[in-house]
Amino acid sequence: MNKEPQERKRIKELEVMVADSIEEAHDTTTLIFFTGNDHLDYKPGHFLTIDPHQFDALGRFTAFLEDLKGRKEPPRAYSMSSSPHEKYLAITIKEERYTSGATKYPPLLSPLLVKRTFRGMRLTVTGFTGPYTLPDDIESQTDHLVHVCAGSGSVPNYSMLKFALANYPKLRHTFIYANKTWDDIIFRDALANLEKQNSGRLSVVHSLTRESETFQYTPSVRKGRITVELIRELIPDTSSAQVYVCGPAVSVHDRNAAKEKGVLPQPKFLESALASLKELGMSKEQITYESYG
Ligand SMILES: Cc1cc2nc3c(=O)[nH]c(=O)nc-3n(C[C@H](O)[C@H](O)[C@H](O)COP(=O)(O)OP(=O)(O)OC[C@H]3O[C@@H](n4cnc5c(N)ncnc54)[C@H](O)[C@@H]3O)c2cc1C
Repeated sequence: MNKEPQERKRIKELEVMVADSIEEAHDTTTLIFFTGNDHLDYKPGHFLTIDPHQFDALGRFTAFLEDLKGRKEPPRAYSMSSSPHEKYLAITIKEERYTSGATKYPPLLSPLLVKRTFRGMRLTVTGFTGPYTLPDDIESQTDHLVHVCAGSGSVPNYSMLKFALANYPKLRHTFIYANKTWDDIIFRDALANLEKQNSGRLSVVHSLTRESETFQYTPSVRKGRITVELIRELIPDTSSAQVYVCGPAVSVHDRNAAKEKGVLPQPKFLESALASLKELGMSKEQITYESYG
């Protein structure tokens, strides 16, 4: 796809240094990068890419996977968890799991970024790009932004949320966030603090699918998936809201595996969320989504 000149100008290689790494959850780390004096021209929701070939520690593993897969390992995309009005550049990575018998290949890059990065480590990132951003005139389109996310899908929305709270005073936000358990929630304290600081402008509702039987649910921490009923309750007036949906989706690998078995791929979070929004009568123009499949 041909990129706009503005977009081409924005995409460049950056040498960055890990200034800090923050454990957000047992399998999730935020890496804060020192970028020198480079001008960071990105929008909330944009991502950068990281090429696994640059890491000596992955060398043999990358080569072995390339032999098995018969193709070059591509760079992986990571959305910024920082926001352009903040001083630092950050990404937040959730470690992909290998489940024996279920996962075809062990994940390559995310385990290294989550568990084996250290302060002072240097790496090359390429950015910034992506269509999943807030338009500059968002305040003229809506007064209610609804974020529907799951797992690491909260990363670009967290960036958008911080940016919008700081720059678009007319917008209020509902942040609906699905995870397996309370301890899996990324940015849990940061979201709670933003909610306190922006009373009346931000409501955060968690949905937990695999908490223990004894877990104490509340009106802002619900049991189960993000259903049509939950969205209907939280967005009584769907006619004017704009929704930003991000999270795991059916990947090309899932599609191929299902095809081999002669079945349809099981919908994941993104497909289910989009189906719910459609059922609620929301139009395509009201929905923006990004797939992490
Ligand atoms: C626009 C965008 C933004 C993203 N932002 C974030 C973010 O902010 N944070 C975040 O944590 N993640 C994000 N991701 C996901 C991220 O890019 C990686 O996909 C993720 O970290 C996994 O990479 P990995 O190298 O660890 O795993 P991979 O090595 O890519 O493996 C992932 C899965 O795919 C399977 N697989 C790989 N190759 C094949 C094959 N040839 N055939 C069959 N199965 C295969 C593996 O078995 C494994 O189950 C984003 C993705 C996109 C597209």
